[in-house]
Amino acid sequence: MTNALQQAITLLQGAKQICILTGAGISAESGIPTFRDKQTGLWENFRAEDLASIEAFDRDPKLVWSWYQWRRNLVIDKQPNPAHYALANLEQWAINHNKTFYLITQNVDDLHEQAGIKATHLHGHLWKNKCSQCEASYDADNDYTQDMLLKCPLCDAYIRPDIVWFGEMLPHDEWQLAEYAVNNCDVFISIGTSSLVYPAAGLLQVAKRQGARIIEINLNPTQNPIIDLVISGKAGEILPSLVSALE
Ligand code: NAD
Ligand code: ZN
Repeated sequence: MTNALQQAITLLQGAKQICILTGAGISAESGIPTFRDKQTGLWENFRAEDLASIEAFDRDPKLVWSWYQWRRNLVIDKQPNPAHYALANLEQWAINHNKTFYLITQNVDDLHEQAGIKATHLHGHLWKNKCSQCEASYDADNDYTQDMLLKCPLCDAYIRPDIVWFGEMLPHDEWQLAEYAVNNCDVFISIGTSSLVYPAAGLLQVAKRQGARIIEINLNPTQNPIIDLVISGKAGEILPSLVSALE
């Protein structure tokens, strides 16, 4: 076992509250591209950052809706990878050892839930829709093979994905829960996130300020100086070995 893994185990064993933050990198091994991956096919000339905003939707709702329908088609058959299952086992280990455990994710996919663990979703859900004006949730069937715009039955505005776009506020309850979890944790693990998207990225600073030890698991570590322990590599390989060494 590497020195870094051994140190992570020691930190986890000593913790009372563990807080995990995941990003797109944890789903990469399931075949879901991250935002920093270059887009392919139809969308190769677009940047994700230029499509995931209210300005883009106001300018061209059909374009943004079509992109999300395409993303949904890309994700629909994807399954959790060993990293998602290892986190579910880590939660179980924590409960068995009287530790409190919180999982916060920036991901909009539902692979954590498919692996049997509930996550607090800071950036919304790929599979949900809402009205772009009155914000009523839109539960009617959505055929992901169609990119025809849908309209709100209440106010006739366009339906949009229930995802937090660049420039939008995070959902209030989820953010409060995340702040609570981070403010009381003694170990914080950041997994597969470039930590560029705020305010989620600011949770690392919150954890650090209140005295938690910060671990990063990333294929290309962020070089953030506040991180105490970096484990460089694939989440789908590191997390299963970390968790099996704990059990
Ligand atoms: P990001 O795309 O900015 O960064 C991904 C990070 O994961 C990088 O640091 C990369 O080095 C790392 N990484 C890649 N493969 C990895 C692996 N196998 N193991 C460990 N690390 C790996 O992602 P972000 O920081 O989550 O921010 C992007 C935003 O895009 C988020 O807000 C999220 O909502 C959204 N997004 C979500 C999904 C999803 O739900 N699966 C996919 C793409 C983008
Ligand atoms: Zn409406």
